[in-house]
Amino acid sequence: MKTLKLPKSKLDFFAAVIQQFGEVHAPVARGDEFAFERLERWSDARLDYNRTILPPKKYFLPPREEMFTYTADGYVPSTEGLDQKLVLFGVHACDVYGLNILDEVFLDGPHPDPYYKARRRNVAVIGIDCIPDENCFCRSMRADFVDKGFDLFFYDMGDAFFTLVGTALGDDMVLSAASLFEPVAPQDVAAYKAHSQAKAEMFKLDVEIRDLPEIFEMEYTSAIWEELGEKCLACGACSMVCPTCYCYDVQDTVKLGECAGSRERCWDTCLFSSHARVAGGENFREEQSDRIKFRFYHKQRGFVAEYGRPSCIGCGRCIVSCPVDIHVVEVLNRLRGVAHVA
Ligand code: SF4
Ligand code: SF4
Repeated sequence: MKTLKLPKSKLDFFAAVIQQFGEVHAPVARGDEFAFERLERWSDARLDYNRTILPPKKYFLPPREEMFTYTADGYVPSTEGLDQKLVLFGVHACDVYGLNILDEVFLDGPHPDPYYKARRRNVAVIGIDCIPDENCFCRSMRADFVDKGFDLFFYDMGDAFFTLVGTALGDDMVLSAASLFEPVAPQDVAAYKAHSQAKAEMFKLDVEIRDLPEIFEMEYTSAIWEELGEKCLACGACSMVCPTCYCYDVQDTVKLGECAGSRERCWDTCLFSSHARVAGGENFREEQSDRIKFRFYHKQRGFVAEYGRPSCIGCGRCIVSCPVDIHVVEVLNRLRGVAHVA
């Protein structure tokens, strides 16, 4: 992978250059929190953020989107917004990893999702390294480093950004601002390695995921699921903010008398009581304990069986958003039988 160095004093110039690749969106402050939004001014970008309220999945799988309209003559796929060129600047490694997981779900296999595919093609991703806070455990989930899924990735080296070029588009971005970049020197590589080691030692939250699927297998009837079911409010916040929760519901709006209508999909979650309800009123996950157990099993066991890794990337969003303090690492460590350190 090509590596370069961008002096921090030249970041503003680079930010101006990349506008030719699409509308630039980056994390901005929203009170005490942060959100990915279109930048009015580059100075609004907060590259020192800890996590955004919603992950970048909102750009690729919007909370609500029209899929097609139909009449008696047939249907017309909806294309609004699919060809819009965007540059997402400042995506953390865990969130890039989250996109890579969504890629496996929506792009791999015989029927790639055309809406997700078009957006992934038209949205450039520029990643940036970060400092973990007390709710980050991406290192435990092997998502603190990514080697694909981004066009460029910046590592903060003090007075410069160590820059990984991930794609041909990333290379085009660098070439269009070639005078800003410098070659990497041996001392820069040494600085990168020292930074990487120092970051690894900053994590306060930890969970061992080796053999976790087997432990889940053994703990299917654990009392912990009843306990969590009693506590959980079924608000769905943990799923909505999760970079790798991708369930959606499909709803038709029919124009009565016109033989016409439209179909939309909107985010849904297995934590809602309606999620596993089928025609006739049967519900395959009747109790809240069944539903929260299902979410944990899907992420930590089912996804491993299908894709070879858990679908949790350790971003900590569900920890900070749960109104009743259900803490994913605490649950996993209790199942493991080890003390939870937070
Ligand atoms: S389960 Fe929680 S920590 Fe894991 S990816 Fe989803 S929101 Fe992040
Ligand atoms: S955020 Fe907490 S209370 Fe809300 S559905 Fe998730 S686990 Fe339950």
